[in-house]
Amino acid sequence: MRRLLLGPAVLLATLVALPALQVVQVVQAPAAAADDRPTLTQLTAPSVDGTRRYGHALVADPGRWSPTPGATAYQWFRGSTAITGATGRRHVIRPGDVGHQLAVRVRVNRPGYATTTVLTRTAVIRHRVDARRTVRYEVRVKGQVGSTLVRQFRQQAQETYLDARGWRGRGVVFVPVRSGGAFTLWISQARYLPGFSSVCSTQWSCRVGRNVVINVERWKNASPAWNRAGGSLRNYRHMVVNHETGHWLGFGHAGCSRRGASAPVMMQQSKGLDGCRFNPWPTLSELRR
Ligand SMILES: [Zn+2]
Repeated sequence: MRRLLLGPAVLLATLVALPALQVVQVVQAPAAAADDRPTLTQLTAPSVDGTRRYGHALVADPGRWSPTPGATAYQWFRGSTAITGATGRRHVIRPGDVGHQLAVRVRVNRPGYATTTVLTRTAVIRHRVDARRTVRYEVRVKGQVGSTLVRQFRQQAQETYLDARGWRGRGVVFVPVRSGGAFTLWISQARYLPGFSSVCSTQWSCRVGRNVVINVERWKNASPAWNRAGGSLRNYRHMVVNHETGHWLGFGHAGCSRRGASAPVMMQQSKGLDGCRFNPWPTLSELRR
Protein backbone atom coordinates (compact mmCIF):
# COMPACT_ATOMS: atom_id res chain seq x y z
CA MET A 1 0.00 0.00 0.00
CA ARG A 2 1.15 3.49 -0.79
CA ARG A 3 -0.51 6.75 0.01
CA LEU A 4 -0.94 9.11 -2.90
CA LEU A 5 -2.32 12.59 -2.92
CA LEU A 6 -4.55 12.99 -5.94
CA GLY A 7 -7.08 15.78 -5.90
CA PRO A 8 -8.69 17.09 -2.74
CA ALA A 9 -8.95 13.84 -0.86
CA VAL A 10 -6.19 11.70 0.57
CA LEU A 11 -6.31 8.45 -1.34
CA LEU A 12 -5.59 4.98 -0.25
CA ALA A 13 -3.90 3.61 -3.27
CA THR A 14 -3.54 -0.02 -4.19
CA LEU A 15 -1.08 -0.49 -7.00
CA VAL A 16 -1.88 -3.64 -8.92
CA ALA A 17 0.45 -4.66 -11.73
CA LEU A 18 -1.32 -6.91 -14.22
CA PRO A 19 1.31 -8.07 -16.72
CA ALA A 20 -0.97 -8.22 -19.77
CA LEU A 21 -2.18 -4.63 -19.63
CA GLN A 22 0.34 -3.12 -17.23
CA VAL A 23 -2.54 -1.69 -15.31
CA VAL A 24 -2.20 0.56 -12.33
CA GLN A 25 -5.26 1.03 -10.22
CA VAL A 26 -5.86 3.79 -7.78
CA VAL A 27 -8.82 3.16 -5.54
CA GLN A 28 -10.25 6.20 -3.90
CA ALA A 29 -11.69 5.43 -0.52
CA PRO A 30 -14.17 7.96 0.79
CA ALA A 31 -12.69 10.26 3.40
CA ALA A 32 -14.02 8.89 6.68
CA ALA A 33 -14.74 12.26 8.24
CA ALA A 34 -16.75 13.46 5.27
CA ASP A 35 -18.76 10.34 4.55
CA ASP A 36 -19.65 7.52 6.91
CA ARG A 37 -22.02 5.72 4.56
CA PRO A 38 -21.09 2.12 3.70
CA THR A 39 -19.09 1.46 0.56
CA LEU A 40 -19.78 -0.98 -2.24
CA THR A 41 -17.60 -4.07 -2.05
CA GLN A 42 -15.43 -4.72 -5.08
CA LEU A 43 -15.75 -8.34 -6.26
CA THR A 44 -13.70 -7.94 -9.42
CA ALA A 45 -11.65 -4.88 -10.28
CA PRO A 46 -12.42 -2.56 -13.17
CA SER A 47 -10.16 -3.14 -16.15
CA VAL A 48 -9.55 -2.01 -19.71
CA ASP A 49 -9.81 -4.25 -22.76
CA GLY A 50 -8.73 -3.60 -26.32
CA THR A 51 -5.65 -3.09 -28.47
CA ARG A 52 -3.59 -0.15 -27.33
CA ARG A 53 -2.91 1.21 -30.81
CA TYR A 54 -4.30 4.05 -32.90
CA GLY A 55 -7.08 2.64 -35.08
CA HIS A 56 -8.61 0.68 -32.21
CA ALA A 57 -10.96 1.37 -29.31
CA LEU A 58 -10.57 0.60 -25.62
CA VAL A 59 -13.48 -0.59 -23.53
CA ALA A 60 -13.71 -0.15 -19.78
CA ASP A 61 -15.02 -3.09 -17.78
CA PRO A 62 -16.57 -1.56 -14.64
CA GLY A 63 -15.80 -4.65 -12.56
CA ARG A 64 -18.30 -6.35 -10.29
CA TRP A 65 -19.56 -4.87 -7.07
CA SER A 66 -21.76 -5.86 -4.19
CA PRO A 67 -24.41 -4.71 -3.96
CA THR A 68 -24.87 -3.88 -7.65
CA PRO A 69 -24.23 -0.19 -8.33
CA GLY A 70 -27.20 1.98 -9.22
CA ALA A 71 -25.06 4.07 -11.55
CA THR A 72 -21.64 3.85 -13.15
CA ALA A 73 -19.86 6.82 -14.71
CA TYR A 74 -16.72 6.91 -16.83
CA GLN A 75 -14.12 9.53 -17.62
CA TRP A 76 -11.07 8.85 -19.78
CA PHE A 77 -7.78 10.64 -19.22
CA ARG A 78 -4.69 11.23 -21.35
CA GLY A 79 -1.91 11.27 -18.80
CA SER A 80 -3.59 13.17 -15.97
CA THR A 81 -5.78 15.35 -18.22
CA ALA A 82 -9.45 14.52 -18.69
CA ILE A 83 -10.25 14.00 -22.38
CA THR A 84 -13.14 16.23 -23.43
CA GLY A 85 -16.25 14.26 -24.26
CA ALA A 86 -14.66 10.89 -23.43
CA THR A 87 -17.24 9.79 -20.89
CA GLY A 88 -18.45 6.48 -22.29
CA ARG A 89 -17.39 2.92 -21.58
CA ARG A 90 -15.78 2.82 -25.00
CA HIS A 91 -13.01 5.17 -26.05
CA VAL A 92 -11.93 5.33 -29.67
CA ILE A 93 -8.20 6.03 -29.53
CA ARG A 94 -7.43 9.53 -30.83
CA PRO A 95 -4.30 10.56 -32.74
CA GLY A 96 -3.10 12.65 -29.79
CA ASP A 97 -3.39 9.65 -27.46
CA VAL A 98 -0.41 7.97 -29.14
CA GLY A 99 2.70 8.13 -26.95
CA HIS A 100 0.65 8.68 -23.78
CA GLN A 101 -0.79 6.45 -21.13
CA LEU A 102 -4.57 6.56 -20.97
CA ALA A 103 -6.62 6.01 -17.87
CA VAL A 104 -10.29 5.50 -17.19
CA ARG A 105 -11.94 6.62 -14.01
CA VAL A 106 -14.86 4.42 -13.08
CA ARG A 107 -17.20 5.87 -10.50
CA VAL A 108 -19.83 3.58 -8.98
CA ASN A 109 -22.58 4.56 -6.59
CA ARG A 110 -25.88 3.47 -5.19
CA PRO A 111 -28.37 5.35 -3.01
CA GLY A 112 -27.35 5.03 0.62
CA TYR A 113 -23.74 4.16 -0.27
CA ALA A 114 -20.64 6.29 -0.62
CA THR A 115 -19.33 6.76 -4.16
CA THR A 116 -16.26 4.69 -5.00
CA THR A 117 -13.83 5.75 -7.68
CA VAL A 118 -11.28 3.52 -9.37
CA LEU A 119 -8.68 4.81 -11.80
CA THR A 120 -7.24 2.23 -14.18
CA ARG A 121 -4.24 3.23 -16.23
CA THR A 122 -3.14 1.57 -19.46
CA ALA A 123 0.36 1.22 -20.85
CA VAL A 124 1.51 3.75 -23.46
CA ILE A 125 -0.67 3.91 -26.58
CA ARG A 126 1.19 3.02 -29.78
CA HIS A 127 0.93 3.82 -33.46
CA ARG A 128 -1.19 1.66 -35.80
CA VAL A 129 1.88 -0.35 -36.67
CA ASP A 130 5.42 -0.53 -35.36
CA ALA A 131 8.16 1.39 -37.16
CA ARG A 132 9.40 -0.46 -40.24
CA ARG A 133 11.52 2.15 -41.96
CA THR A 134 13.33 5.33 -40.94
CA VAL A 135 13.65 8.14 -43.48
CA ARG A 136 15.90 11.16 -42.90
CA TYR A 137 15.13 14.40 -44.67
CA GLU A 138 16.47 17.94 -44.82
CA VAL A 139 14.46 21.15 -45.10
CA ARG A 140 15.62 23.83 -47.54
CA VAL A 141 14.28 27.18 -48.67
CA LYS A 142 14.10 28.46 -52.28
CA GLY A 143 13.74 32.22 -52.78
CA GLN A 144 12.54 34.74 -50.25
CA VAL A 145 10.53 33.11 -47.49
CA GLY A 146 10.31 34.76 -44.07
CA SER A 147 12.13 33.08 -41.21
CA THR A 148 8.99 32.83 -39.05
CA LEU A 149 7.22 31.04 -41.87
CA VAL A 150 10.18 28.71 -42.40
CA ARG A 151 10.24 27.84 -38.71
CA GLN A 152 6.52 27.11 -38.78
CA PHE A 153 6.94 25.07 -41.96
CA ARG A 154 9.61 22.86 -40.37
CA GLN A 155 7.50 22.34 -37.29
CA GLN A 156 4.18 21.66 -39.01
CA ALA A 157 5.70 19.35 -41.60
CA GLN A 158 7.31 17.27 -38.86
CA GLU A 159 4.03 17.26 -36.90
CA THR A 160 2.37 15.87 -40.03
CA TYR A 161 5.00 13.13 -40.27
CA LEU A 162 4.67 12.23 -36.58
CA ASP A 163 0.87 12.20 -36.63
CA ALA A 164 -0.77 8.82 -36.08
CA ARG A 165 -3.10 9.52 -39.03
CA GLY A 166 -0.23 10.04 -41.47
CA TRP A 167 2.39 7.90 -43.23
CA ARG A 168 3.67 6.91 -39.78
CA GLY A 169 0.61 4.64 -39.83
CA ARG A 170 2.39 2.71 -42.58
CA GLY A 171 5.44 2.29 -40.37
CA VAL A 172 7.50 5.12 -41.88
CA VAL A 173 9.37 7.26 -39.35
CA PHE A 174 10.59 10.63 -40.63
CA VAL A 175 13.58 12.22 -38.94
CA PRO A 176 14.71 15.76 -39.82
CA VAL A 177 18.47 16.21 -40.27
CA ARG A 178 20.54 19.36 -40.84
CA SER A 179 21.66 18.33 -44.30
CA GLY A 180 21.53 15.37 -46.61
CA GLY A 181 19.08 12.62 -45.79
CA ALA A 182 17.03 10.65 -48.30
CA PHE A 183 14.95 13.58 -49.58
CA THR A 184 14.80 17.36 -49.45
CA LEU A 185 11.62 19.07 -48.31
CA TRP A 186 11.55 22.52 -49.87
CA ILE A 187 9.47 25.57 -49.12
CA SER A 188 9.71 27.55 -52.33
CA GLN A 189 8.58 30.82 -53.74
CA ALA A 190 6.02 30.09 -56.46
CA ARG A 191 8.12 31.48 -59.31
CA TYR A 192 10.93 28.99 -58.66
CA LEU A 193 8.73 25.89 -59.01
CA PRO A 194 9.29 25.45 -62.80
CA GLY A 195 13.05 25.58 -62.07
CA PHE A 196 12.74 22.17 -60.37
CA SER A 197 11.19 20.62 -63.50
CA SER A 198 9.15 21.70 -66.51
CA VAL A 199 6.27 19.61 -65.10
CA CYS A 200 6.07 21.86 -62.02
CA SER A 201 3.82 24.91 -62.17
CA THR A 202 3.90 28.17 -60.26
CA GLN A 203 0.32 27.29 -59.21
CA TRP A 204 0.96 24.07 -57.31
CA SER A 205 3.39 22.09 -55.20
CA CYS A 206 5.47 19.40 -56.88
CA ARG A 207 7.77 16.42 -56.41
CA VAL A 208 10.81 15.84 -58.60
CA GLY A 209 13.28 13.08 -57.78
CA ARG A 210 14.48 13.64 -54.23
CA ASN A 211 12.86 17.09 -54.07
CA VAL A 212 9.50 17.42 -52.33
CA VAL A 213 8.61 21.03 -53.09
CA ILE A 214 5.87 22.91 -51.28
CA ASN A 215 4.73 26.10 -52.99
CA VAL A 216 4.70 28.87 -50.39
CA GLU A 217 1.58 30.45 -51.92
CA ARG A 218 -0.36 27.22 -51.35
CA TRP A 219 1.17 26.86 -47.88
CA LYS A 220 0.01 30.37 -46.94
CA ASN A 221 -3.37 30.39 -48.68
CA ALA A 222 -4.43 26.78 -49.37
CA SER A 223 -6.28 26.46 -52.71
CA PRO A 224 -9.50 28.11 -53.93
CA ALA A 225 -11.36 24.75 -54.05
CA TRP A 226 -10.19 23.84 -50.54
CA ASN A 227 -11.23 27.24 -49.18
CA ARG A 228 -14.62 27.15 -50.92
CA ALA A 229 -15.31 23.80 -49.23
CA GLY A 230 -14.50 25.32 -45.83
CA GLY A 231 -11.32 23.29 -45.25
CA SER A 232 -8.92 24.68 -42.66
CA LEU A 233 -5.47 25.95 -43.57
CA ARG A 234 -3.86 23.53 -41.13
CA ASN A 235 -5.56 20.59 -42.83
CA TYR A 236 -4.48 21.84 -46.25
CA ARG A 237 -0.91 21.89 -44.96
CA HIS A 238 -1.23 18.34 -43.67
CA MET A 239 -2.68 17.30 -47.03
CA VAL A 240 -0.03 18.92 -49.21
CA VAL A 241 2.86 17.51 -47.14
CA ASN A 242 1.26 14.04 -47.12
CA HIS A 243 0.46 14.18 -50.86
CA GLU A 244 3.86 15.36 -52.13
CA THR A 245 5.73 13.11 -49.69
CA GLY A 246 3.46 10.26 -50.83
CA HIS A 247 4.84 10.75 -54.36
CA TRP A 248 8.35 10.48 -52.94
CA LEU A 249 7.30 7.24 -51.20
CA GLY A 250 6.37 5.93 -54.64
CA PHE A 251 2.63 6.58 -54.91
CA GLY A 252 0.97 7.97 -58.03
CA HIS A 253 -2.36 9.76 -58.19
CA ALA A 254 -5.52 8.06 -57.01
CA GLY A 255 -9.18 8.68 -57.86
CA CYS A 256 -12.31 8.90 -55.75
CA SER A 257 -13.54 5.38 -55.00
CA ARG A 258 -17.18 6.27 -54.35
CA ARG A 259 -19.33 9.29 -53.75
CA GLY A 260 -19.14 10.54 -50.15
CA ALA A 261 -15.97 8.60 -49.29
CA SER A 262 -12.87 10.32 -47.93
CA ALA A 263 -10.64 11.35 -50.81
CA PRO A 264 -7.37 9.43 -51.01
CA VAL A 265 -4.55 11.75 -49.98
CA MET A 266 -2.97 10.91 -53.34
CA MET A 267 -5.98 12.37 -55.16
CA GLN A 268 -5.37 15.85 -56.59
CA GLN A 269 -7.79 17.37 -54.10
CA SER A 270 -6.70 20.92 -54.84
CA LYS A 271 -8.19 20.52 -58.31
CA GLY A 272 -11.43 18.62 -57.71
CA LEU A 273 -13.07 15.87 -55.69
CA ASP A 274 -15.39 13.81 -57.96
CA GLY A 275 -17.89 13.53 -55.10
CA CYS A 276 -15.34 12.53 -52.46
CA ARG A 277 -14.81 14.51 -49.27
CA PHE A 278 -11.63 16.48 -48.62
CA ASN A 279 -9.23 14.43 -46.55
CA PRO A 280 -5.73 15.46 -45.43
CA TRP A 281 -4.59 11.97 -44.38
CA PRO A 282 -3.79 8.71 -46.18
CA THR A 283 -6.80 6.41 -46.23
CA LEU A 284 -6.53 2.94 -44.70
CA SER A 285 -6.08 1.40 -48.12
CA GLU A 286 -3.26 3.85 -48.88
CA LEU A 287 -1.59 2.92 -45.61
CA ARG A 288 -1.91 -0.79 -46.33
CA ARG A 289 -1.04 -0.80 -50.02
ZN1 LIG B 1 0.38 14.86 -57.04
